[in-house]
Amino acid sequence: MELLKKRILEDGKCFPGGILKVDSFINHQIDPVLMKSIAVEFVKRFSGNRFNKVMTIEASGIAPAIMVGYLMELPVVFAKKKQPKTMENMISTTIHSFTKDREYQVCISKDFLTQEDRILFIDDFLANGNAANGMIDLIDQAGAELVGMGFIIEKAFQKGGDLLRSRYVHVESLAIIDSLDGCKIQIRE
Ligand code: 5GP
Repeated sequence: MELLKKRILEDGKCFPGGILKVDSFINHQIDPVLMKSIAVEFVKRFSGNRFNKVMTIEASGIAPAIMVGYLMELPVVFAKKKQPKTMENMISTTIHSFTKDREYQVCISKDFLTQEDRILFIDDFLANGNAANGMIDLIDQAGAELVGMGFIIEKAFQKGGDLLRSRYVHVESLAIIDSLDGCKIQIRE
């Protein structure tokens, strides 16, 4: 997606350890016009798939997911990182955080992820695929079906994309970063 690639090159910042900061337009301050274009692109790329719900994980996935849900007029559900005392029919899984380098629990209510659901998962980044694998675990536990996974940015020098594609998951990434070596952002054409 050309508009997104251009913006990453203009406003993205590299941090040691292969981290790309996009907090001026994607995951802290948010550019809603860009976010709408991102959602339009996701809708186009998954137009051949039938899904009835959009799923994401808090917090950074919520903005793109809700834009997709809005365009498709479908409900959006997000996995929570803090377990609310009042959550009913909870299922949970453990995820390793790439950016924080620690394990954390995420949960979701089976009231909103059911056997009838065909899920499109949306998130901001795909790195090692830990968050994505955790979401697949929740989808499996609920007896729902995963239709596809869309990421705004995939870091292809980490193993998540290969792992998901080797499991025959339909993955769509709108910008693929081949390298951040030497703090130079190299985006795939
Ligand atoms: P994974 O679970 O695929 O290893 O990492 C995905 C999650 O970690 C994303 O939900 C995202 O929040 C965070 N993440 C991974 N790599 C980066 C990065 O380079 N920059 C930012 N801002 N977040 C990242």
